[in-house]
Amino acid sequence: MTSQLSGPPGPAAAAAVNLSGRTALVTGGGSGIGRACALALAEAGAQVHVVDLDAESAKETATAAGGIAHAVNLADTAALGALPREIDILVNCAGLQHVAPIEEFPPERFALLQQVMVMAPFLMIQRCLPHMYAQGWGRLVHISSMHGLRASAYKSAYVTAKHGLEGLSKVAALEGAPHGVTSNCVNPGYVRTPLVEGQIAAQAEAHGIDPEAVVGEVLLERSAIKRLIEPEEVAAAVLWLCGPHTGFITGTSLPVDGGWGAN
Ligand code: NAD
Repeated sequence: MTSQLSGPPGPAAAAAVNLSGRTALVTGGGSGIGRACALALAEAGAQVHVVDLDAESAKETATAAGGIAHAVNLADTAALGALPREIDILVNCAGLQHVAPIEEFPPERFALLQQVMVMAPFLMIQRCLPHMYAQGWGRLVHISSMHGLRASAYKSAYVTAKHGLEGLSKVAALEGAPHGVTSNCVNPGYVRTPLVEGQIAAQAEAHGIDPEAVVGEVLLERSAIKRLIEPEEVAAAVLWLCGPHTGFITGTSLPVDGGWGAN
């Protein structure tokens, strides 16, 4: 494969993203955004490895994507050794949330979020780069968040981890550039997934209001578009970053946020 950084795509590249012959790995692929990414990449022709803590959901997505399931706890560094290294497209998506004020935040939960959302992406990138460098092409896409660019109270571990992921992505972009490897973050606002449904329930209880009011008045307070994002809309951005027209886009953060960041 030749590097897409070596020149602009020709007219033939204007077609839809074609990932035939590419191999992708999506962490957190069993649910929500990761599942939507796995399906979108498979639809575009990639062979997809689906990695998730939850064996059943990894298997379900892999079956739907015609791919391969890996039940792996990304907090377990040694377990990553079982994952394939010959990956052309790495989507670091697995994540979790914990909401508490700093003075009450359990340190072990803080450490777990860093382990899953910063350390595991670092180790996954480290594993995949030799193959990407050898072929002169690779795509690293990290599902960050608007919380990679902005803070919210009570989300110290999550905001810290996502800001860390942003830095990691930028360094990977600098190092990968001479080898045809791009690295970018995608930064969603609130997406309709189990992770957010859990937060809606928790916030409803904390504020003593009903779940619909949490969405409208708390989560989407600063969003210009007053609806949750669908996982497929995030996956479409990921797919675009793996396509023929984005070889010059690297080290960036792409908000998919309904105008939150503009407000
Ligand atoms: P989700 O809960 O639907 O999916 C997360 C997946 O990660 C789950 O399948 C879970 O099993 C897996 N996972 C968690 N810990 C793991 C571990 N230790 N090892 C392996 N897998 C593990 O959540 P989602 O909303 O789809 O979130 C996916 C990513 O998108 C996360 O990084 C999240 O921070 C980010 N994000 C979500 C939103 C949102 O509003 N939902 C917004 C911005 C960013």
